[in-house]
Amino acid sequence: MKKSKNNSEVKKLNRNRVFRYINSKEKTSMPEVAAALHMSSPTVLQIVRELNEAGVLLDAGELESNGGRKPKALTTVKDIRYALGIEITQNHIGIVLTDLTKAVKASARLREKFVFEDAYFKTLGRVLEEFVEEEQVDKDKVTGVGISVPAIVDMPRNYITYSRALNLYDVAGDVFSRYIPYPCTLINDASAAAASEWGLGYLKENLVYLSLSNTVGGAILFQNSSEYMEDDDYSTSVFENMYIGNHWHSGEFGHLTIHPDGDTCYCGKKGCVDAYCSALRLSKETDGQLEQFFVELEKENPEIRKAWDTYLEDLSIAVDNLRMCFDCEVVLGGYVGSCMKPYISELRDKVARRNIFEGAGDYISVCTFQNEASALGAAVFYIEDFMNSI
Ligand SMILES: [Zn+2]
Repeated sequence: MKKSKNNSEVKKLNRNRVFRYINSKEKTSMPEVAAALHMSSPTVLQIVRELNEAGVLLDAGELESNGGRKPKALTTVKDIRYALGIEITQNHIGIVLTDLTKAVKASARLREKFVFEDAYFKTLGRVLEEFVEEEQVDKDKVTGVGISVPAIVDMPRNYITYSRALNLYDVAGDVFSRYIPYPCTLINDASAAAASEWGLGYLKENLVYLSLSNTVGGAILFQNSSEYMEDDDYSTSVFENMYIGNHWHSGEFGHLTIHPDGDTCYCGKKGCVDAYCSALRLSKETDGQLEQFFVELEKENPEIRKAWDTYLEDLSIAVDNLRMCFDCEVVLGGYVGSCMKPYISELRDKVARRNIFEGAGDYISVCTFQNEASALGAAVFYIEDFMNSI
């Protein structure tokens, strides 16, 4: 049951909804805000005044009129705050800069092998500072640095419980941010990647993200939208809508069983999705080079084509299971998801054949951001944090 809110909580929530609505549009007007959020004109006027006083809105001229006086255009100050995202993988460091647009404003990627040593974290701090200098970011406007890691992360404690990829158990997040002079928090890589997609306009949708990299992971984003719900609720941030489970183990789709007694997964179990749908399953066909796999596939190399068909068949089982559980959009990300675009209709057809309710698989889509997805989503965490404070 929802807790009832007191007057000042309602006011803050309304102010936040108005701000988020204006921020989601390039330009809008008070009448549009009032209509979209079902608020009275005086309420919207009062909130816009407050937001103006807080310096978060910008005078953007006038909008075209449909008759009568031209309404004043409202827009948010997109660069009032910046956030940075870092993605740590076994062999790379990725960095992304974003602002209230939640788009990639600048990015960098370098090869740096992860080692759990002070020297590595020193390097991390140095490359971030170099990036900030290079991009001439106003440091006073940096609200925080989200650090995406391929790990199970207990976010309230900012703590890694386990990471196979980085070979870590029970590590506090502070270790990672030792040389970073901004607020920092660790975020699971698939959750961060999902957040990057959600910022783009899935805001009102439920969404399952399936990350297909050298391991398989995922994230579940619930707006709990349904035909019974208002379709214009801009009040909540993406991280509040992430389903995390009781032990931060939700979305571990890599360990769903799709072939009982099948191939052995790295977790020791047999027949896991990970054993069949990780990027390694493809790259092992081309000497560890995933890019080469897709080059050969495009050339219709028969061996590679066969491997791809098998892969898609297995993936279709996994995706169909997700659709059965969650009845929502399924976005494919990670190394393989990024290369999936030309083949998405093949996958949709295979999934549709398994689905008992639907004749088409058009709820399956390919991620928008590729290499930058996790770093961007990690940065979005701090943008959301700032927006919540408004
Ligand atoms: Zn497994």
